[in-house]
Amino acid sequence: MDLSKLSFILQNEPKFRFAQAYQALYRDLISDWQQASVLPLSLREKLNEECPLSIEAEISTDSGVAYSEKALLTFPDKVSVETVLMRNRDGRHGVCLSSQAGCPLGCTFCATGDGGFFRDLSATEIVEQFFFWARKLKQEDRGEKIDNVVFMGMGEPFLNYEEFIKAVKILHDPEKFNIGSRRMSVSTAGIVEGIKKLASEKMQINLAVSLHAAFDSLREQLMPIAKKYSIASILRAVDDYITKTGRRVMFEYIMIRGINDGEDDALALAALMNKSLYLVNLIPYNATGKFQSSSPARIEAFKEKLESAGIAVTQRYSQGRGIAAACGQLAGKKK
Ligand code: SAH
Ligand code: SF4
Repeated sequence: MDLSKLSFILQNEPKFRFAQAYQALYRDLISDWQQASVLPLSLREKLNEECPLSIEAEISTDSGVAYSEKALLTFPDKVSVETVLMRNRDGRHGVCLSSQAGCPLGCTFCATGDGGFFRDLSATEIVEQFFFWARKLKQEDRGEKIDNVVFMGMGEPFLNYEEFIKAVKILHDPEKFNIGSRRMSVSTAGIVEGIKKLASEKMQINLAVSLHAAFDSLREQLMPIAKKYSIASILRAVDDYITKTGRRVMFEYIMIRGINDGEDDALALAALMNKSLYLVNLIPYNATGKFQSSSPARIEAFKEKLESAGIAVTQRYSQGRGIAAACGQLAGKKK
């Protein structure tokens, strides 16, 4: 798929062709311009040549997480990324999008980080993942569509900030996908500059921060980028973000057996998280290699410790961690 020349080509056409092309692309979800029968044949042919709509993708039914499907998209340069569709029983759907092919941050618990880094994705390549699932739901013809978008796939969105935010704007654009900003969430490993930039955007999308440890020393072992951004510096940026936007921030904490799930960890985390508009999301770690998930009993005890300290805690499996955990495994398999 390549839409880079679309505006250029439509510029030479009568004005109403824009609306027709957008309708075909974003509403009718065509995968070939020939399907846009309102457009003149010559224009359709030209668009097929200059703005191909086909997407090369392979669906894997075994996503590792219930009610979800995973797909591997391959771009013309043979670089692949994965994306996940999360089907909820109530008919609402979420998609998890990748922002980079691979990830340069190399977190020790993450399969994506383990696989190395290939390149940044363009905004179109990020949106292409959304197109893929939107077309699939349309084909299934049950009137279902995508309600939520999380930028929690492969890569660190804030290391590809410009393309990430362009993608957010395309998804949000009422003439394109019209996804409300509150239905979009971005997760960062704690890139302070990105948190600052997001705070100054007009778009109020949800922010999640991957904390995973309450001590810098442990965090540095799990996430090498923690050497550059201390927990204190991240929380300062988050506090500024909250002052500017008035929005809640979710702190993600994956529960890794014997590593970050002890009593002292819970106490230290409670001390850090004791602020209004902070919310902790405890996520069972999805074992992909050297670590194991904490037991359900340990997670429950950890949660109780936080709650008794007055911290807001959730334990959401869908729309976030479940999907993200499912991301990070398929590309590894293929390579
Ligand atoms: N790079 C960003 C966003 C992509 S990763 C970030 O790190 O926040 C999305 C989330 O999945 C992060 O919170 C990450 O820590 C988490 N994650 C990675 N591997 C996981 C696994 N095996 N099980 C559960 N969560 C995982
Ligand atoms: Fe990159 Fe996020 Fe995985 Fe860390 S957890 S390696 S930042 S994708």
